[in-house]
Amino acid sequence: MHYDVVVVGLGAMGSAATYQLAKSGASVLGIDRYLPPHALGSTHGDSRITRLAIGEGAEYVPLVHRSHEIWRDIEAQTGAEILRQCGGLVMASASTQPMHGSEAFLDHTVATARAFDITHELLDADDVRRRFPHFSLRGDEIAYYEPSAGLVRPERAVEAQLQLARSFGATVALGERVLGLDDHGSHVSVRTTQEIVEAGTVVVTAGAWLPELVPDLAPSLRIYRQVMFWFDLADPSAYPNHRDSPVFIWWHGAARTDMFYGFPMVDGPAGGAKVASEQYDEVTTPDDVDRQVTDAEVLAMAERHVRDRFPGLGRNCVKTRACLYTVAPESRFVIARHPAMAGVIVASPCSGHGFKHSAAIGECLSQLALKGESVLDLSAFGFPA
Ligand SMILES: Cc1cc2nc3c(=O)[nH]c(=O)nc-3n(C[C@H](O)[C@H](O)[C@H](O)COP(=O)(O)OP(=O)(O)OC[C@H]3O[C@@H](n4cnc5c(N)ncnc54)[C@H](O)[C@@H]3O)c2cc1C
Repeated sequence: MHYDVVVVGLGAMGSAATYQLAKSGASVLGIDRYLPPHALGSTHGDSRITRLAIGEGAEYVPLVHRSHEIWRDIEAQTGAEILRQCGGLVMASASTQPMHGSEAFLDHTVATARAFDITHELLDADDVRRRFPHFSLRGDEIAYYEPSAGLVRPERAVEAQLQLARSFGATVALGERVLGLDDHGSHVSVRTTQEIVEAGTVVVTAGAWLPELVPDLAPSLRIYRQVMFWFDLADPSAYPNHRDSPVFIWWHGAARTDMFYGFPMVDGPAGGAKVASEQYDEVTTPDDVDRQVTDAEVLAMAERHVRDRFPGLGRNCVKTRACLYTVAPESRFVIARHPAMAGVIVASPCSGHGFKHSAAIGECLSQLALKGESVLDLSAFGFPA
């Protein structure tokens, strides 16, 4: 069997690439070892933050703009609600705000908004309290507010893109694991648990499993377990404010561990308010990771971040999930042709902030595979040396 392109891994990136390839008229096979959307990789947990002024760097801004356009188009085609622009706050009271490779994330966000003319407001603590009374602030915070920021529904995005990919003629093979790739120069062989298929180009979007399939990347990528928590509502009268809340990223101290982020209650009063922080102390693998979340972890999250800042929330979780960050050097992305296998394109755009760019990255991967270059500039995301 021969395809123009085989896509390995159908999470956020692979489902987007498979859809865009099929829409372009290519013969495409998308393969996943599980049944996406699933909860074993990096693309689950109901919501992801999106924001246009990207504090991680100006080079990401065109990707998120294009992703918003694509999601609106996908919503029109499928009827799924994927992007909710409920606004977003980035808030800090210390002069350092370390996140995703940036030591001054809030300052970079403001600078990017100004450079790209992105509508925003700068608020003090009183402004935030007045507009969003469910946040309990200390008083010395400053905040960046972006009305176009919000959240994306990751599972719905994957489902919709796979549905559209199939409707444009893509073959989607689920529950089939790719074992290895052999680049023959003229084509690439893809060995799976069930067959060997040939492709002009292979796009590898295997998330945390990438180091298994592309061992050259293993020294550059670190996998970290992260946990998402959905806290219950202690005060029912707080629900409308939590329902209509902006997404937020909030430092209540100067350390990386003083940051947490969260979302509006998107699934009703019983669905809980989702919050999470980040950890970079212990590396793991998709095989070894502990997917259970302990009571001690729930208690630590409640005490460290939630209790003093959201008086309307309780201390119990209605849901918890473990998830995987695949982190590249300096928390950047890798989206590039493999230097030693010309028929293989690799995409590792995670580092904890990839989802908001995924629809555009899929389009770029399709253009790279079919035309040799993408409309948006990917030169900042080369293969690590
Ligand atoms: C807790 C958490 C919070 C996050 N928050 C945000 C956020 O707020 N905003 C944001 O923009 N980003 C966020 N991110 C990052 C974002 O979710 C990721 O960048 C994105 O989901 C990565 O998608 P992916 O397609 O690379 O990986 P995945 O979705 O994991 O997909 C990889 C796929 O490859 C398949 N696969 C692997 N090996 C094989 C094989 N051998 N054969 C066949 N299939 C294979 C897997 O089954 C899987 O489906 C967050 C990530 C996490 C974990």
